[in-house]
Amino acid sequence: MEASKRIALVAHDSMKDQLLAWVRHNSGTLTAHQLWSTGTTGTKIKEACPELRVTALKSGPLGGDQQVGAMIADGALDILLFFTDALSPHPHDADVQALTRLSTLYNVALATNRTTADFLITSPFFGKPFQPTGGGDGEPADPDAQR
Ligand code: PGA
Repeated sequence: MEASKRIALVAHDSMKDQLLAWVRHNSGTLTAHQLWSTGTTGTKIKEACPELRVTALKSGPLGGDQQVGAMIADGALDILLFFTDALSPHPHDADVQALTRLSTLYNVALATNRTTADFLITSPFFGKPFQPTGGGDGEPADPDAQR
């Protein structure tokens, strides 16, 4: 990972206020990084923090989560902050599960709540190049070799 991290910001509707508060609080740090967001979350972030350059994807339920997944599979994302609503079902739950699975597979740093996001952004590696322990970058091991 380079010093400038490639970060996706996503929140379910009931968690958007928490993510917005977190982004507002950390906006000074986030300006040094490259940001993507699903449609509705991105629109709200742009309104709340016009100083941040955020590339908006499609709305999550309309394919935005899958666009984030494609970025992960392409090795184009370092960090995913997805503040999830753990109390209600969503029509696109399958997409959300796929995102957590891909983040695990490609060794993407994943925060689904404020505490984990706080730990990530205060890491000494947030603004520095980073190599995971044991080497390698995000590429998963060859699945055929594991069978
Ligand atoms: P949204 O999508 O930012 O377009 O609301 C988030 C989600 O996946 O629910």
